[in-house]
Amino acid sequence: MKIIMLGAPGAGKGTQAAQIAEKFGIPHISTGDIFRANLKQGTPLGLKAKEYMDKGLLVPDDLTCDLVVDRIAQPDAANGYVLDGFPRTIPQAEALTKALDARGEKIDFAIDVEVPDENIVNRMGGRRACSKCGATYHIVFNPTKVEGVCDACGGELILRDDDKPETVQKRLGVYHDQTQPLIDYYMAAGVLREVDGTQEIGKVFEDITAILS
Ligand code: ADP
Ligand code: ADP
Ligand code: ZN
Repeated sequence: MKIIMLGAPGAGKGTQAAQIAEKFGIPHISTGDIFRANLKQGTPLGLKAKEYMDKGLLVPDDLTCDLVVDRIAQPDAANGYVLDGFPRTIPQAEALTKALDARGEKIDFAIDVEVPDENIVNRMGGRRACSKCGATYHIVFNPTKVEGVCDACGGELILRDDDKPETVQKRLGVYHDQTQPLIDYYMAAGVLREVDGTQEIGKVFEDITAILS
């Protein structure tokens, strides 16, 4: 099963994608996680991506598309994957469609997790990410068992640099301008499904599971 997660920054794409990946035994491919892992290792890609990420801007398509096209060609993605944070622009969606077409494949579902902007700003202030494995939590809505410590790996939790309120506002603007048009793109392709992302995490996952099953 090949799934795309759509939705604003902070809508809960990553949270849901991790659960989908586990339930269906497919890889969770997050471009944000890939960029952050590169930055941590100090690769040229990571350093370049950081220039954009810190400003709340999108990393240019030419640095992003090939990366994903290569990643989905890996053996562990042969039975499908859940893409989280890609595509984010129409050219990225077109590059993905082209790569899939070349292999006689298609996306099965594009799941749009809908959350209004007002809710997003609150959510991002409480988001905490594991500095080791990238797992995402929320201080109120999805807390760890021990404060500040990742349940999955014991790593230290941090507030992402780009989750500061000013940068979140900027990212929301970028989302409306560049990413929201993908909703129409995938609607036209007949694979768009919408879920109400303001519900609690478990309920959103139930709705997604119903769509996928
Ligand atoms: P969120 O889902 O909270 O917006 P991500 O981890 O998906 O965060 O992305 C963090 C940042 O990484 C984005 O603001 C952007 O700068 C960059 N990024 C991630 N995915 C893409 C992409 N597909 N195209 C361009 N930039 C991206
Ligand atoms: P995205 O990948 O779309 O940027 P995340 O999955 O990282 O979003 O979620 C953003 C923040 O909101 C995280 O702190 C997460 O724990 C929290 N969160 C995710 N889904 C919900 C939900 N349904 N209700 C409340 N908080 C949520
Ligand atoms: Zn961790």
